Amino acid sequence: MDKRSDAQARRCPSSTALKFGDVQVAGRARMYPVELALRVHAAWVMMARYLAEQRGLAREQQPAWLDDGMMARRKGSMGGLRIGHGYDVHRLVEGRPCIIGGVDIPHERGLLGHSDADVLAHALADALLGAARAGDIGALFPDTDPAFAGADSLVLLGRAMAHIRQLGFELLDADCTIACQEPKITPHRDAMRKNLAAALGVELDQIGVKATTTEGLGWEGEGAGIGAWAVCILEKR
Ligand SMILES: [Zn+2]
Repeated sequence: MDKRSDAQARRCPSSTALKFGDVQVAGRARMYPVELALRVHAAWVMMARYLAEQRGLAREQQPAWLDDGMMARRKGSMGGLRIGHGYDVHRLVEGRPCIIGGVDIPHERGLLGHSDADVLAHALADALLGAARAGDIGALFPDTDPAFAGADSLVLLGRAMAHIRQLGFELLDADCTIACQEPKITPHRDAMRKNLAAALGVELDQIGVKATTTEGLGWEGEGAGIGAWAVCILEKR
């Protein structure tokens, strides 16, 4: 026994590991109860699948839960969950309204764009479309199309969500961050969440919005524009 395996044996008094296939159920020192439970579950799913295959059950005859959960994730699948990320930036200019998350914020400058330039709604729409592998907001609502000139981006967000539902997805959760030095976002944050949730047809609790300044750094800090990021989780229904 070399030095390393000798040390391992000392750490692990139970030298016989309990294994089902490639899943080690026990035999490791200091395994947390949750980890042990997950491993037992994985082993149980593996045994159930093995028995189903032995009985000659076709894949579609096997219980649905055999395709879900830990074993699905072990194979690199998200078990019907999809993650999406969106990012958008609009320039701040004079003579434009400053509409963010559907809230028209009183400010001496506003966001420049073909639509109402709602940077938050656009980032969130891109996160949703990304998770559904359905392209991006530019492809769905081209800024060369006069039909979208001055468009209410909450309406566009609602249309993007309808498109995603047609593809069989539902939104589980989303969180967004706005980066700007001015205007102040926090007083309008809950109104933004309410607008976005209503446009998407989900509960208020499913939408998070927060803001950060960049402490005067970069183009956001200098007030040249406003940036927004969004992440979301979709579930295939
Ligand atoms: Zn945009």
